[in-house]
Amino acid sequence: AAKHQGKGRACEYAVEMTDYVRTRLQTEQSLYHALERQELQLYYQPVMHLNTGGLAGFEALLRWQHPVSGLLSPDQFIPVAEESGLIEPIGTWVLEQALQQIQIWQQMTQRPLFMAVNVSPRQFVHADFGAIVQQALQRYQLSGESLEIEITESILQDFQRSKRIVETLRTLGCTVAIDDFGTGYSSVSLLRHLPVSRIKIDRSFVSALPGRAQDTGLVSAMLGMAHSLGLEVTAEGIETAEQAAILAGMANMAAQGYYFERPQPAEFFTVGWLSRHSAA
Ligand code: C2E
Ligand code: MG
Ligand code: MG
Ligand code: MG
Repeated sequence: AAKHQGKGRACEYAVEMTDYVRTRLQTEQSLYHALERQELQLYYQPVMHLNTGGLAGFEALLRWQHPVSGLLSPDQFIPVAEESGLIEPIGTWVLEQALQQIQIWQQMTQRPLFMAVNVSPRQFVHADFGAIVQQALQRYQLSGESLEIEITESILQDFQRSKRIVETLRTLGCTVAIDDFGTGYSSVSLLRHLPVSRIKIDRSFVSALPGRAQDTGLVSAMLGMAHSLGLEVTAEGIETAEQAAILAGMANMAAQGYYFERPQPAEFFTVGWLSRHSAA
């Protein structure tokens, strides 16, 4: 009986694996065509100056309008893009698209708005990343300060290379931010070794507010550390007026979250929103 059971389990496992592999392959194949079929789209979320309420810039967030499954979020396909190498052409497309958009919005508002772009480890350590960024900036006649590159501690897998790339980006005038700060084991060690300009305090810390003294303590410790190191801060995932007020009482920082605006397609901001939010 035991033998029979064991075999049954192995069989179930094999079926699950096959399903997994099939889905994974299907995703990879349709992702391969997604770019040329123009199924990828960027949404944008505004980044606000918390203390003045003014607009600082935007973060580009990738979506896939899948012909069958509907609108997919990056967590549903970025891992496949990373594993398959498709992240390289996709990432270049994201960069170009996002810079083209910020050029338009800078011209409309006559303000130095920045665009933050998420970059995966594989894309970041790609030999040409610095050149790709430089070309995209030139194409849209943007200065380096218009672009912020967001990385996570997973780039530590290839540290020496990452360090050189961060330095190249700095030379171009771009800023580099550590995304999801505080969630990994080594986010602090990144600060020690890389010339980054900003930390983005992960949503999990913000959503704990208002909470126990420890929760507030943790956020203010991160703010203190950023201040001592001369780093700028963005708080992610602000959903309530209370969270905005608590953070505003702690320090000057930039802020993103549903409380200000959800990620939206470009047209949403171009029609009306920008003129309401960019009066000096
Ligand atoms: P992230 O860079 O940390 O982006 C923040 C995520 O939090 C976004 O999810 C955003 O929609 C969501 N968010 C913003 N404000 C709030 C809020 O107030 N409450 C809640 N509950 N969520 C909020 P999204 O768009 O699904 O993106 C998930 C992750 O996918 C991003 O996390 C980023 O790591 C990655 N990603 C997005 N676009 C790209 C891309 O173009 N390239 C790469 N490599 N990764 C990307
Ligand atoms: Mg991000
Ligand atoms: Mg984040
Ligand atoms: Mg994230």
